[in-house]
Amino acid sequence: MSFDVAQIREDFPILHQEVHGKPLAYLDNAATAQKPRQVIDALARFYERDNGAVHRAVHALGARSTEAYEGARATVARSLGATDPREVVFVRGTTEAINLVAAAWGRSRVASGDELVITEMEHHSNIVPWQLLCDAVGARLRVVPVNDRGELLLEELDAILGAGTRLVAVTHVSNVLGTLNPVREIVERAHAAGALVLVDGAQGVPHMPVDVRELGCDFYAFSGHKVFAPTGIGALWARREILEELGPWQGGGGMIASVSFEKTTWAGVPERFEAGSPNTGGAVGLAAALEYLEAAGPGAVERHERALVEYAEPALRAIPGLRLIGEPADRASVLSFVMDGIHAHDLGTILDREGVAVRAGHHCAQPLMERYGVPATVRASFALYNTREDVDALVAGLHAAREIFGA
Ligand code: PMP
Repeated sequence: MSFDVAQIREDFPILHQEVHGKPLAYLDNAATAQKPRQVIDALARFYERDNGAVHRAVHALGARSTEAYEGARATVARSLGATDPREVVFVRGTTEAINLVAAAWGRSRVASGDELVITEMEHHSNIVPWQLLCDAVGARLRVVPVNDRGELLLEELDAILGAGTRLVAVTHVSNVLGTLNPVREIVERAHAAGALVLVDGAQGVPHMPVDVRELGCDFYAFSGHKVFAPTGIGALWARREILEELGPWQGGGGMIASVSFEKTTWAGVPERFEAGSPNTGGAVGLAAALEYLEAAGPGAVERHERALVEYAEPALRAIPGLRLIGEPADRASVLSFVMDGIHAHDLGTILDREGVAVRAGHHCAQPLMERYGVPATVRASFALYNTREDVDALVAGLHAAREIFGA
């Protein structure tokens, strides 16, 4: 099936509305993405027909829910190129996945004097959990810098990696710069130094084919809501042999083999990491979203979005006073910029009046803002349903802003 954006747009009811009397151009996909009818219907169907408590079910609805939940796990595994569904842990999203690794793996595998490596372009959710871990165990956080174009300085990574490095945690795609990082190369270098690699895939899965075996990483985290699924669901993929060796991070129902006041023993994986009643409906929605993406074709989605970025980039550059933040050679789906004389938040507000939804702020990447010497940027981020018309509306809105501000 060829990629037909008009047909795709038909699947997303929310896109067909006016905002402030203008057709909506939704360009805030890096923050959260919209949901196709197929996902909304799957949720409705689940709650209308199947909803029950999962695992140890003695009634039909519980059994159906368990089947749906475990089926969703298999779908997540397949969409990441993993062969074993037991390598998938359901979580609330990328943030929780990283906190899980920092707690379950970090607290038991990282000791005083060890080092953890992140990069200058990480989202706060791939910074703060490691700072908390370092504070708790006495480890040291090292940071790989970026160049002016917004690309990682891999020679600096080589200089940082050493016998004490336990983990490299890196984003697949920067949510500010759009940089697509050379994950496989990073993995090779980290593994050669004896370190594991966690990939923050929040901006990866929605925009391109992802294959964890090809990437070679040890952990891969992503959020459902950015990949056309509901909020409150996401997944951590981890190599089974790593998961098997770890103790739990949260205690409660569902994560034990047996409990007594004298001694409690743990369930196998992944249940050991899923304490409490899970977000079954969310998992059903996530599976429907990943199936939707699979049908659209992740490779075709990537090509479509790259073409949009290539269409948008020169048009933005041609706007007097506009400066793109980050110009990486390999860019996926995100453009950030600032404009002389107009604060990013004012720009965002004016664009909203034109029906154009963008994000303005630090994008939970304050160290990166500091690196570029800006307090905030405007960020336009694309998804499979965006069109050249959306880009044209953005560019027209920016020209209108210049006139309003006399910039
Ligand atoms: N990492 C990156 C690169 C992100 O863009 C985001 C969301 N903006 C996150 C992590 C956090 O995702 P969530 O809030 O869904 O946990």
